[in-house]
Amino acid sequence: MSAAYKIIDHTYDAVVVGAGGSGLRATMGCAEAGLKTACITKVFPTRSHTVAAQGGIAASLGNNSPDHWTWHMFDTVKGSDWLGDQDAIEYMVREAPAAVIELEHAGVPFSRNDNGTIYQRPFGGHMQNMGEGPPVQRTCAAADRTGHAMLHALYQQSLKYDADFYIEYFALDLIMENGACRGVIALCMEDGSIHRFRSHSVVLATGGGGRVYQSATSAHTCTGDGNGMALRAGIALQDMEFVQFHPTGIYGAGVLITEGARGEGGYLTNSEGERFMERYAPSAKDLASRDVVARSMAMEMREGRGVGKDGEYIYLHLDHIDPKVLAERLPGITETGKIFAGVDLTRQPLPVTPTVHYNMGGIPTNYHGEVVQNRDGNPDSIVPGLFAVGEAACVSVHGANRLGSNSLIDLVVFGRATGLRLKETLKPGTPHNPLPKGSEDYALGRLDHFRNAKGGTPTAKIRAEMQRTMQRHCAVFRDSALLAEGATKMDSIYQGFQDVGVTDRSLIWNTDLVETMELDNLIGQAVVTIKGAENRKESRGAHMHETYPDRDDANWMKHTVATFDGWGGKGGAVKIDYRPVHDYTLTDEIEYIKPKKRVY
Ligand SMILES: Cc1cc2nc3c(=O)[nH]c(=O)nc-3n(C[C@H](O)[C@H](O)[C@H](O)COP(=O)(O)OP(=O)(O)OC[C@H]3O[C@@H](n4cnc5c(N)ncnc54)[C@H](O)[C@@H]3O)c2cc1C
Repeated sequence: MSAAYKIIDHTYDAVVVGAGGSGLRATMGCAEAGLKTACITKVFPTRSHTVAAQGGIAASLGNNSPDHWTWHMFDTVKGSDWLGDQDAIEYMVREAPAAVIELEHAGVPFSRNDNGTIYQRPFGGHMQNMGEGPPVQRTCAAADRTGHAMLHALYQQSLKYDADFYIEYFALDLIMENGACRGVIALCMEDGSIHRFRSHSVVLATGGGGRVYQSATSAHTCTGDGNGMALRAGIALQDMEFVQFHPTGIYGAGVLITEGARGEGGYLTNSEGERFMERYAPSAKDLASRDVVARSMAMEMREGRGVGKDGEYIYLHLDHIDPKVLAERLPGITETGKIFAGVDLTRQPLPVTPTVHYNMGGIPTNYHGEVVQNRDGNPDSIVPGLFAVGEAACVSVHGANRLGSNSLIDLVVFGRATGLRLKETLKPGTPHNPLPKGSEDYALGRLDHFRNAKGGTPTAKIRAEMQRTMQRHCAVFRDSALLAEGATKMDSIYQGFQDVGVTDRSLIWNTDLVETMELDNLIGQAVVTIKGAENRKESRGAHMHETYPDRDDANWMKHTVATFDGWGGKGGAVKIDYRPVHDYTLTDEIEYIKPKKRVY
């Protein structure tokens, strides 16, 4: 079987899969440390989803209002609904200001205050005085194109270092040996050659899997391939049931309107013209955290106060804001509003609805980026040779709900941490052991299977069924019956996937084949997500389980970790286990922030 493919071998100290914000920052760190580094990416680096990030990046610089890292820490812990690991959160918020300054020096053209400092705007859930308020201005912005500016600066910087880029290469699977990662196999999409990367360490920076759902703000390339590869390697994913719905996706199109819009004074109204957030979050109002705002909107629509013929959206108002301010601080969304909603938002409100936006869950890691698993009674047992960063990872700094602008900071802080860890633990040029015989067999067996799949159902049909099912059964509001029915449906969709048909057999730009392998990655994540949700009998952060409407710290303050016995006709069983939440901080400069009721 594998004899039919041309295999090209490469040897590296470190291989990073993914060239979004996290992958590029990790690549730079590794190369800077003198490690022989490769970065593999299925899209051109500056087309990674990070480019679409709008609103900004959080750091307690205190340029526009008083701020302190301990306040940022409190808000992140509270935002996570106490599921975040506090050692990792402390690491992130303390490193954040330096990480933003580093980006500034790398050439990110941040918006400026009159005195020349970086402009910072308010964002949901970010407050002053350990949550007491008022809202803090913590989110550093380059107008509403922060991710664009960041990704371009990081890509330019990474070219300065001696890293090799493999662009438009699709990573298929990890090479594992005795529980350790030894490398990765990738397909060059242009000519169909197979590339075997032998490496002391592999960093998965493959982003989120928003495309599990029907309506998502993320790009069509956000299929969580690294999570799929991890599941196939027997690695458990963590907290996948926590899926963030962003309050303001444009109705119908799903395209994002940044939370920065509310940060700059935008507000939501229902069909009665009422600013309903005042009822749900009296103090933070429209700047409550995302899970709270998305739920409030869904509740308004459910109770018949949605706008539109069928009450299926909510209005976002920016029409009261000075058009000069809009042009300067939110130029991108002004354009987006015109194109995707046909609305001139300087005059009219925008129709918006909660839309899938972010995966809080992912591959579990410690704050060095090292992948950890439950092994032999040790929940923090390291998987040798494997790292994960960015949205693919679950550090876990976001816990059950991520605060806006905390992802971009997570990318650079933990991308950098991964480089530092590798610098510390890996000597450049360390000799390699030979790879096990047939190290390519697993990846190529799967490739062959899909390339020659002659079943009766097209990929697009199965994908649409999965997306509809997840959207209907595992969205903002969940309950036992809805989840149980959805889980059964997902099982049968997974079984139905065995009958997939791929029509294109070529190896040159075979998008039919690549999309099918992406769907394979998505389905595993969908099944783990809905089973994790069904299993978690409480409500916390983004997981609103109406049969169990309260947070239950006694039984459920723990991370879900779930494996999926997927590809290879193994039936698709999910096995659920748990890891403890880290209830300790990194230093004694701040105490563990004790759980309390979460009100905004
Ligand atoms: C519209 C939008 C706006 C956002 N705005 C903000 C914001 O203002 N502030 C904020 O903090 N967060 C924001 N977020 C969230 C944040 O942007 C993302 O979580 C973050 O950019 C993800 O970065 P990443 O490095 O993990 O992955 P991505 O940027 O998604 O990149 C993934 C990389 O992996 C590569 N890859 C994937 N699979 C494979 C494979 N099989 N083989 C080879 N390569 C592969 C891709 O080519 C790509 O380079 C926003 C998200 C969206 C969708």
